[in-house]
Amino acid sequence: MTVTELVSYEDALASYDPVMGLEVHVELGTKTKMFCGCSTELGAEPNSQTCPTCLGLPGSLPVVNAVGVESAVKIGLALHCEIAEWCRFARKNYFYPDMPKNFQTSQYDEPIAFNGYLDVQLEDGEVFRVEIERAHMEEDTGKSTHVGGATGRIHGASHSLLDYNRAGIPLIEIVTKPIEGAGERAPEVAKAYVAELRELIKALGVSEARMEQGQMRCDVNLSLRPNGTKEFGTRSETKNVNSLRSVERAARFEIQRHAAVLSSGGTIVQETRHFHEEDGSTTAGRIKDNAEDYRYFPEPDLVPVAPAREWVEELRKELPELPRVRRNRLREEWGVSEHDMQSILNAGAVDLIVATIDAGADAASARKWWMGELARRANEAGTDLAALEITPEQVARVCALVAEGSLNDKLARQVIEGVLAGEGDPDAVVAGRGLAVVSDEGALGTAVDEAIAANAGIADKIRSGKVAAAGALVGAVMKATRGQADAARVRELILEKLGVEG
Ligand code: ADP
Ligand code: MG
Ligand code: ZN
Repeated sequence: MTVTELVSYEDALASYDPVMGLEVHVELGTKTKMFCGCSTELGAEPNSQTCPTCLGLPGSLPVVNAVGVESAVKIGLALHCEIAEWCRFARKNYFYPDMPKNFQTSQYDEPIAFNGYLDVQLEDGEVFRVEIERAHMEEDTGKSTHVGGATGRIHGASHSLLDYNRAGIPLIEIVTKPIEGAGERAPEVAKAYVAELRELIKALGVSEARMEQGQMRCDVNLSLRPNGTKEFGTRSETKNVNSLRSVERAARFEIQRHAAVLSSGGTIVQETRHFHEEDGSTTAGRIKDNAEDYRYFPEPDLVPVAPAREWVEELRKELPELPRVRRNRLREEWGVSEHDMQSILNAGAVDLIVATIDAGADAASARKWWMGELARRANEAGTDLAALEITPEQVARVCALVAEGSLNDKLARQVIEGVLAGEGDPDAVVAGRGLAVVSDEGALGTAVDEAIAANAGIADKIRSGKVAAAGALVGAVMKATRGQADAARVRELILEKLGVEG
């Protein structure tokens, strides 16, 4: 099916009600793998981080990574789940070259966490509750690279390369219950849910959750049912969607595609689908029916996991403030609108602004520099704010220099430029470039006198009460001092010397 055969989004929603299910895989940031001591560090030589266990060699025995279990419990608690008193791993049996054991060690009917929820905030401020079915522990597979074909897929490839460094990296899979009642906002809910979950995972410190690096990926299950009916339709499952924008687009595309198939009398096949970044479409993957049988059975080589209640309660007490709650708190403290807070979040500036305030800046200045000059520079350089070569402490110092009147905004921008160019701390740049505001009253007084003498006409106007004309004289003084005068003080001096009240 091509994109032109889709039903328009509005028409689809006029007849059908979407139901979604989101499965998110998070790669944990543990130092070692889930069932062996191999390093999880990225970027190593292929197959250099392997051992008999993660290669599935006969006779090797797995051991559970305690930090992996702790991370799973933290995620479960943060999602308001119940934590199993006792649960086991299971073997999910299937053959694929990237999984040399011929089974993936996972959890099946005994997940470590279940029955929770995550509240997500939509763009209009409304809060939507997404219910969580379960969060379970499993391991990642190796990575195949198909060589010689045009598409990088296995079809048409001449041979494949396998890297088992990723085999055995701990994953937590978080599965929602069917999400109903989102209506036309289903794609927005999907995106907001994954965004919120990512913030939560980062706040817990269990993973960096970088979607662009595959540390977090989402399968989008979607079905439609005729408006006003209860029974779920057949779902499709779009696999491994790896950006927030793509999650939203995949849901939207599937709504339009399902509607096109259903309204023309066709039936939806339960299948996996691939998402295509270029045009936001999906194409069929493999057929998947409910009878699909992985012959799960309890893993006999691992002892059951039985998290002690006291330990679980300790972890619960240590949970950080939930990201949504923290964002709302900061929004109030900073006195910004929902919309501005969203921009701050999208710019990745929340933590930078917090750190700048912690280093002594006031909220308004911290926000102004990060969202203004620094955002502009990051944008120009095509990088994230966090990647700029300036620290929150340095930004706070710039704010302090402006607040005490040593710098005006124009000079402060030059200081920031100097810091970014590697000229050192703000004070070093001020000294090195000679950037301090001229506040020496004698020098300022002379400059003001000269400006008045050179602009006698304007000076007369001001004397006769046209105070607004002072701007022209301030401009003349600023020009004469190459922008280094304190404009407010210059204005005071002009009015003083001309004998008028400001
Ligand atoms: P599988 O392993 O086959 O993908 P899971 O139970 O792990 O099955 O995940 C299925 C996801 O899809 C869950 O989030 C579930 O809530 C959701 N889901 C199940 N049935 C439907 C349906 N008919 N339409 C939309 N979502 C569904
Ligand atoms: Mg699935
Ligand atoms: Zn290993």
